[in-house]
Amino acid sequence: MPKGRQVADIINLLPDNIANQIAAGEVIQRPASAVKELLENAVDAGATEIQLFIKDAGKELVQVIDNGSGMSDTDARMCFERHATSKIQTIDDLFHIRTMGFRGEALASIAAVAQVELKSRKHNEELGTFIEIDNSVVKRQEPCQTAPGTSIAMKNLFFNVPARRNFLKSNAAEMRHIVDEFIRVALAFPHLQFSLNSNGQEMFHLEKGSLKQRIVNILGQHYNSKLVTVKESTDYMNVSGFVGKPDTAKKTRGDQFFFVNNRFIKSGYLNHAVMSAFSEMIPSENFPLYVLFIDLDPAHVDINVHPTKQEIKFDDEKILYAFVQAAVKHALAQFNVTPALDFELDPGIQSLDALTQPFTDQKKVQSANTSIYRSFTQANQAHMIDHSGSNSNLRNWKDLYGPVEKPLEMEAPSSTASVIDERWQEAATDQKVPVQVHQQYILSQIKSGYILIDQRAAHERILYERYQRALSEKPIATQQSLFPQTLELLPADAVVISEMLPDLQALGYDLEPFGMHTFVVRGTPADIQTGNEQASIEGLLEQFKHFSTELKLNRRENLVRSMARNNAIPVGKPLGTREMQNIIDELFACATPNVSPGGRFTFISFKLNDLERMFDRGA
Ligand code: ADP
Ligand code: MG
Repeated sequence: MPKGRQVADIINLLPDNIANQIAAGEVIQRPASAVKELLENAVDAGATEIQLFIKDAGKELVQVIDNGSGMSDTDARMCFERHATSKIQTIDDLFHIRTMGFRGEALASIAAVAQVELKSRKHNEELGTFIEIDNSVVKRQEPCQTAPGTSIAMKNLFFNVPARRNFLKSNAAEMRHIVDEFIRVALAFPHLQFSLNSNGQEMFHLEKGSLKQRIVNILGQHYNSKLVTVKESTDYMNVSGFVGKPDTAKKTRGDQFFFVNNRFIKSGYLNHAVMSAFSEMIPSENFPLYVLFIDLDPAHVDINVHPTKQEIKFDDEKILYAFVQAAVKHALAQFNVTPALDFELDPGIQSLDALTQPFTDQKKVQSANTSIYRSFTQANQAHMIDHSGSNSNLRNWKDLYGPVEKPLEMEAPSSTASVIDERWQEAATDQKVPVQVHQQYILSQIKSGYILIDQRAAHERILYERYQRALSEKPIATQQSLFPQTLELLPADAVVISEMLPDLQALGYDLEPFGMHTFVVRGTPADIQTGNEQASIEGLLEQFKHFSTELKLNRRENLVRSMARNNAIPVGKPLGTREMQNIIDELFACATPNVSPGGRFTFISFKLNDLERMFDRGA
């Protein structure tokens, strides 16, 4: 800067309301975030009855009414200040905190991005207090008649931040998030009564009761006799809760919950511990129910992880993993539902009390289990086709196509046999030539009759397994584009793509970040013909987002499924004999040929016997 010239200072302090709105973004992302915070506050306030009211998927109203401690006039005003909390006083408290909230951010955040009405009364007061807040500004506070406890209504979320309001998803999607949060809190506190009312209709009414009752009331009566108790305690930690018997495992994730000190968490690592305890008992791609509570000294949990995040850090993850895995195995073993008792534990925790208890009647359990195991796996084998003796992978599928018993007699073609004649003859003498029906199904003759293959579902299965292999073993080759295209995405989509870059690479995409929300597409998977790389990736992204709201798949599973869904041969595509034969060959080389990744049948078989019966032969 040349001397002597006055330079205006350029740094401002943001006005409070803008600072609050920015900070609020971390805590309140959607209506469901407010649901979580308000429900947790009610629990922290010692409420025994908690009602949640929702209008328009929370976009219009999220209200929680509780019969907890209530607040004084001053506290009712204070609670909306940032860092206003009654839950910690000293930095030391942080390491012992057992309540849900403690940073004093939730109400301040809600008040920054919505219109809020609070009514609260302490049990020993005659009158309560009413407060109205808009955009972090107190509009009104006055005494009021109200029941003991607190009611907080959050109206018109993001009314003052239209850009964020536009980011909200469809009502169905937002409502799903709300129900998820509600369920998580309701499962964590079965001894409290909860209800959820949406647009005037009661969706849940949960009386206080045992954890088992709560699980059944929320997740379904069919779990009633299907829950196995998990309970192990040591000085270091306790694990308790329930896992579903293996035969209740579902094709979709969803009924899987971990709580650490009653706080819902997501942990791929601990999920793996449970899944490994179930391994061999359920087919891959199936997910058992679990609702597990881990309790340990808060000092062993990293509290620096933001409380709104569901990920959590522990002092020693390995111990936790081994302990959870052992607890679930132990539970399954005691209930005679485990095929083998193999405890491979970290020697460090072998000495933990709960793990050294002898298992009684181990032999009996083992033999009983083999039959349970067998009947269980059989029930999950390929349906429709009877392939006695073979394993569930249909490895012996070629047996389905026995030798052609009696070739069709054909007139020998005339001496001037054309190419067409030769094809004809081949088709006529080889009965295995498949036929396409309505450009949708492939009809293929097998020894015992014929099968009808759904071309799209079958191809989806083939691609799904191919892509899975690509991620775990052998990446798919990339076809480099002659003219790299740039792909400009919405910010949220760009985040999704960035997170998946390594996986996309393994699947054959060559993408490179290029500026803020832009990528350069240098290549696409060699086995996909695309004229339009951009459309291919956008299609993939759409499918990915659809699956993420519809099913709860992990990112990789979602990606693989989305790719398979998007690149599968569509209905209406004419197929040549070679293509059909390839589909048949590849389908039956799959590990699970009989269903599509989404669980639809890939083929149905028709047996000669049944056909004969249908034609009423011999009558
Ligand atoms: P935190 O829960 O982290 O303390 P919040 O912003 O969620 O922060 O709440 C601030 C304070 O307001 C709480 O510490 C509590 O004292 C009070 N409060 C909030 N909700 C309720 C309620 N439903 N009943 C009684 N007090 C409440
Ligand atoms: Mg709170």
